[in-house]
Formats: sequence, C-alpha cells, structure tokens
Amino acid sequence: MPSTQSAVRGRLAPSPTGQLHLGNAWAFLLAWLAARAQGGQVVLRMEDIDPDRSRPDFAREIMRDLRWLGLDWDEGPDLGGPCGPYEQGARLGRYAEALDALDAAGRTYPCFCTRKELRELAGAPHAHVAGDGSPAYPGTCGRLTAAEREELLRQGRRACLRLRCDDLSIVFDDAVAGPQRLTLEECGGDFALRRSDGVFAYQLAVVLDDAAMGITQVVRGNDILTSTPRQIFLQRLLGLPQPQYAHLPLVLDHQGERLAKRHQSLTLARLRDSGIGAGAVCGYLGWRAGLLDAPRPVAAAELASGFSLAALRAEPVVLPEDIARVLAGLG
Ligand code: GLU
Repeated sequence: MPSTQSAVRGRLAPSPTGQLHLGNAWAFLLAWLAARAQGGQVVLRMEDIDPDRSRPDFAREIMRDLRWLGLDWDEGPDLGGPCGPYEQGARLGRYAEALDALDAAGRTYPCFCTRKELRELAGAPHAHVAGDGSPAYPGTCGRLTAAEREELLRQGRRACLRLRCDDLSIVFDDAVAGPQRLTLEECGGDFALRRSDGVFAYQLAVVLDDAAMGITQVVRGNDILTSTPRQIFLQRLLGLPQPQYAHLPLVLDHQGERLAKRHQSLTLARLRDSGIGAGAVCGYLGWRAGLLDAPRPVAAAELASGFSLAALRAEPVVLPEDIARVLAGLG
C-alpha cells in the first residue's frame, strides 16, 4: 500500500488493444488533470488482461502518446513503484486468490451458456435489457443441479464463472454524471468473473487493482458507467474501499458515432505525424471541457489550475467533421 493514503491517487488505465485516439486523449487528459489539480498522484496501469487482444507494441505506443500529450505518472510499468506490477498480465495470481475466496463463499457458479444461447435468451419474451442495451443474464445456469452440471462437463462443455448478484440497487454519486441509482439487473445481472477460456474478467481485475494500488479517484468514459455498480458490489463483497467515481461524456464524430478503431485519421499517432502539436490537442480538448475561452495551444499542465470535475458538462463532445484541419490551424 502507498504511504500517502490520504492524498488523491488517480489512475490512467489503458487497454493496449489499439492506438489512442482523440476520445482516449480526452479521457486521459481529464483523469490526469483531476488528480494533478488536487496535488494528487497518478498511477499508470496497463490493462492487458485479455491476451487475445493485448499487444506489447500497443502498450509502448500508448505510453509514448501519453508522454507526448504532456501527461506523466508517478508509478507505472516503466517506472515501477510500491504497488507493482503495473501490468494486469503480471497480477493473475491475485485475481485467482480473490476468485477462490468468492467461490468458497458460495458467490459464484459455472455458466455453460454459449454465445448463441445467450442471444436466444436475450430474444425471449420477458428478457430484461440492461442499461447499456445488452441483455441481462437471467441466471439460468445458477439454477442447475449438481447432476446437471456434471453432465454438461462430461459432454465437454466449458464454463465461465459468474458472480451471483443480489437483487440490489447500487447508489453512488458520480462527480460528473451526478447521483446514480442502478439495479444490478439493469447492469446485466449475474456477471462473469472468469471467461470459459480462463481469462479473468475486467470487472474483477479492475476492482482488485484499484484497491491494491490505493486508487481514490476513478475518472473514465461514460461507456463504463454501467460497470460501476458491479464494481461497487464486488468491492463490498471483498471488503475493499470504494473510490470516488467520475464518468466523462464521450467524444463523438460529426455523425454522432463513438470514436473507434475505424477512425484511424483521429489517432494521436496520425495527428502527430501530420504535424499537429500536443499543445493543439490539449488546447482544443481543454476548450471543449470549458477550461479555456477559446482554443489555443497549451501544455496539459497549464489546464490544471482551477480544474474541477464538478464544472464539466455531462453532454457528449461532438467533433466537427474537419477536426484535423481545426487542430492543424492551432499549430
Ligand atoms: N481499460 C479500460 C479501457 O481501456 C478502462 C478501464 C477503467 O478505466 O476502469 O476501456
């Protein structure tokens, strides 16, 4: 545990599954400012939990892009620190231990449902649709008898491990999105802690790592909002502290689509290669966050004075179609 328990500790938690784009820059800049504006520390954690999608070259590029933007960190994969290792792929033993404890407490059950079966359950007449639009798992495999489980195993079916969720509303105050009340069912119902191929789930890893790294403030995109009640529920089951949460509005392209891999022209690498400076990116994003009256090139650190999460608007940030030209115009 870090010695500065009372101070703010924020984190940047990229998944090295692709290159950073302007939407990632927005979230990481604001997460960094939220910590630094309060004199807090920043931890960089590489969320390479999924071996099928994570790549070491992306991890290296992400660190280079973050530094280029002007963001720094006090602990991380490259710097080390008292709470390391800072790559999830090197923390698997910790996840296994926590999962064993939940298992021993009777909180988990194997789920044999295939993707196809899950899709069919979702289409059933009374299927409940979770807040993020995905179907809530109706708990089907949680009701299997021991004999039925054994039979499925005998047939060679592989199971993921799900957490038995209570019928519970989780209430929390989000520093940007405001007061939240979501039932676990609205957040997808009993959720997976380990995939059927043995890969630990994001929800488990993130909760354990935030606690082990003494994180007090979690600032991230709104797309993860429905994960938060699941994470709070896990924290309670495991007796872990609950950090302060802030979910940021997303950055959308001019057609209202979330930035994704296909927005290659909006990766930081591409913008940099076309001669756009980090100051232009920080200045533009800082302006969209309401931190500047007009867009102008600034260093990330210049945006820290007076920064407050509470002052951010919760509406998405829609980029103009000619965003690359706008940025180039700033220098
Ligand atoms: N690694 C996750 C992502 O890149 C973020 C997780 C989090 O901030 O909790 O989407």
